[in-house]
Amino acid sequence: MRPADTAPEGELYECFDCGRRVEDPETARCEGCGGRLRNLGKPRDL
Ligand SMILES: [Zn+2]
Repeated sequence: MRPADTAPEGELYECFDCGRRVEDPETARCEGCGGRLRNLGKPRDL
């Protein structure tokens, strides 16, 4: 595993509710619980 110096190939999202990580999802919904996904690649939502 490399350190996260550069952006991953696909955009990586994490579910707010269950913490599942999804790479380049089709929708902004978690496949597992239907929760919202947030983008881990772009730390804008601070
Ligand atoms: Zn989830």
